[in-house]
Amino acid sequence: MVNFPKAETSQTMAVVVGQPINHSLSPLIHNTAFTIANLKWTYHAIEVPKEKAQECIEAIRDNNIRGVSVTMPLKEAVIPFLDELSEAAKELKAVNCISWDVEKLVGHNTDGDGFVNSLVAETGEGISGSSFVIVGAGGAARAVIRSLREASVAKITVINRNHDKAIVAAQLGGVNASVGATEDIPECDYVVNATSIGMAGTENEGSMPFPARYLKSSHTVVDLVYNPIETPLLSAARKVGATGITGVGMLVHQAALQYQLWTGMGAPIQEIERKITSEITQISQINE
Ligand code: NAP
Repeated sequence: MVNFPKAETSQTMAVVVGQPINHSLSPLIHNTAFTIANLKWTYHAIEVPKEKAQECIEAIRDNNIRGVSVTMPLKEAVIPFLDELSEAAKELKAVNCISWDVEKLVGHNTDGDGFVNSLVAETGEGISGSSFVIVGAGGAARAVIRSLREASVAKITVINRNHDKAIVAAQLGGVNASVGATEDIPECDYVVNATSIGMAGTENEGSMPFPARYLKSSHTVVDLVYNPIETPLLSAARKVGATGITGVGMLVHQAALQYQLWTGMGAPIQEIERKITSEITQISQINE
């Protein structure tokens, strides 16, 4: 059985589903947004294994859950049980958010557009004429590459340990995308780490996704890893005078798009960013 907590009758319920779920930052993000907007919504993290995807969607319908975030391992598994998919979710074959369209459950993927929105917000610049190197070809990389195509960027180069996966990811980037190598890094405007290298609590903690000698002062370097906030890659980028952008921006902007799909309202981005930054900093200090 997938059980959702009962909301008070005056409250609207939203959830994040996945496994493991106890370290998810989504409850903090969305409950902060609901509180600031004075909405009577409440958001809970619910542990759901992959084999319970169908049961989970049935429980969402039965309990009239109005907002759903979806994380691993359910992003693909929920798809057969939804009524409709957004273009992004269809192309990526991955859903990270479910909303209602009258009586239909619609699956979305807000990761890529969250990334693009965070870049534009952080740099204050458009990206359509820019060139990108994306290191990585997993779920996050694919979402980013697809949205960069939609944003009509000039060039996308994909680098990944597994070459076949790089080819599949580059196909999402359209005619301006191709598979490359680390030697392509110095030539681009933006370098994005979309691997998990550098992530706290993993065997790759403290590591770089590629050697620092490829970094230049003209680069804008974005690390999708957000724990730690200041990754080895970002420190190396700042050392050569490049601009560094943390993964917190994408995390908050992809959630803001979900919040907008559920409530029709814009999310209080800056307040959420402050809260999340402080939470991750505290977690890092505890784990030191
Ligand atoms: P994923 O689907 O598992 O993909 C992992 C990627 O990392 C693959 O390209 C994999 O290469 C590469 N990789 C892992 N270990 C490696 C190693 N030792 N050497 C070389 N490459 C390695 O994961 P994901 O969902 O895309 O997430 C990737 C990272 O982005 C995670 O750290 C995640 O937390 C972060 N993320 C952040 C946000 C945000 O909002 N900021 C959103 C989504 C994800 P192979 O293909 O060769 O295995």
